[in-house]
Amino acid sequence: MQLNQLKIFHEQAFIAGKWCDAQNQQSTAIINPATMQIIGHVPNMGKAEAEIAIQAAKQAYPEWKAKTAKERSIILKKWNDLLLEHLDELAFILTSEQGKPLSEAQGEIRYAASFVEWFAEEAKRTYGDVIPSPDSDAQIIVTKQPIGIVAAITPWNFPAAMITRKVAPALAAGCPCIVKPAPETPFTALAMLDLAIQAGVPAEIFSVITGDAIQIGDAFFESNDVRKLTFTGSTPVGKLLLEKSAKTMKKVSLELGGNAPFIIFNDANIDAAVEGALAAKFRNAGQTCVCVNRFLVQAGVYDQFIAKFKERIQKFSVGSGLEPIHDIGPLINKNAISKVKAHIQDAVEKGAKLIVGGKGHCLGELFFEPTLIIDVTTEMDVATQETFGPLAAIFKFEDEKQALEMANATEFGLASYCYTNDLGRAWRMSQQLEYGMVGINKGLISNEVSPFGGIKSSGLGREGSKYGIEDYMEIKYTMFGGLK
Ligand code: NAP
Repeated sequence: MQLNQLKIFHEQAFIAGKWCDAQNQQSTAIINPATMQIIGHVPNMGKAEAEIAIQAAKQAYPEWKAKTAKERSIILKKWNDLLLEHLDELAFILTSEQGKPLSEAQGEIRYAASFVEWFAEEAKRTYGDVIPSPDSDAQIIVTKQPIGIVAAITPWNFPAAMITRKVAPALAAGCPCIVKPAPETPFTALAMLDLAIQAGVPAEIFSVITGDAIQIGDAFFESNDVRKLTFTGSTPVGKLLLEKSAKTMKKVSLELGGNAPFIIFNDANIDAAVEGALAAKFRNAGQTCVCVNRFLVQAGVYDQFIAKFKERIQKFSVGSGLEPIHDIGPLINKNAISKVKAHIQDAVEKGAKLIVGGKGHCLGELFFEPTLIIDVTTEMDVATQETFGPLAAIFKFEDEKQALEMANATEFGLASYCYTNDLGRAWRMSQQLEYGMVGINKGLISNEVSPFGGIKSSGLGREGSKYGIEDYMEIKYTMFGGLK
């Protein structure tokens, strides 16, 4: 497969219903992180183009909003079908710009499509209420209406799924949507948009704009027409965008960073815990917001778990995601590599032991060896900061109380995992872990039917599930009086 021969590979942005270059004619080169080769260019747009996209969305909004839920649902189902029909091409584009192994990219496209299918169905279930009235001559009705134009700002680690998780519920609810994808991974977004338009989404209703994040963001934040910001990315940027959204009082959803604990008790099935640990740590080379940052292992199974985990980590094959034999691709950029190195160095200087890996991989500057460090303690940086790379850090604990204290000692609250065969303990942990999501004896917990999201510094709102569409709707209460 060659990128420039794919019909869905676009080197222009799509705004106000047209494929366009930047007004200043400038473009940005996009690289394949596995080879460092340029794979294409995208327009370097700014505030002016974002304002054009907003105006077009404003004009097209009444017609989209007036469609029946079933009409919007049929279009979304068609989009889901097209995403699956183009699964191999989309996965190839995704791996070429993001680096993850092709099999993971295919999995991500299926996962991305599952949100489109799910919200095609949920579009028809945005029920309201009839509330018993306190006045005998009145009736109270609650209805839900689309919130208005949605601005979506997305990260590079899931270039497909982070978009459909936002755009599908927005479109289902009757909102127009403007997406600014991460600068590293615009081509997946543009390819998916092409398929949405082919499916029948009105062209002005869905734009993907590439370019300067601050300028494009400013157009969103200054506009009273943009009623909703949905952002996935880092916590510091999320906090900044929340502040900027206050000026025009936008509704805001934030899916931010994590610091996931993975707790293994003495009574756990250790083989199952190792399987869960591998998936929850090394998927996407450790670059997922729900990736484990801290393995907390009880003293009685500490050595056993480490021995089994180490054996499996040593078997990982590192290399270009486009070659099917590899399990772990490159990291996204040099900063990502520096952060992993810094966390290892800090931990080892403070007394942790390096068991596997620990350095850059000979394949190239963005490849890093899958790494295992043990005897990690709470004074080390990896205890409090998200590593976002292929580093597994193991802490030891003695009892349940200590495990819980360690797990909750973070400003983040996104995903957490716990392996135990004691039912009472499983329940206590599920209730007391201060996280938006808890996996008991499960290392992979993301799907379209469950509410994905965090508490504390991990964000606001939930994506997916029956709750996900609520963030794109406003509740309206009407009292009908004079009914006697
Ligand atoms: P990031 O640096 O926060 O960037 C995310 C997006 O925000 C990019 O498109 C970026 O564009 C844009 N952006 C940055 N500053 C902006 C500004 N001032 N105005 C408007 N847009 C701005 O995050 P990242 O490094 O791409 O992603 C990694 C982070 O995302 C991790 O912390 C991870 O945990 C988190 N994440 C969370 C979830 C979740 O669901 N909770 C899922 C995936 C990832 P530019 O790069 O052009 O600035």
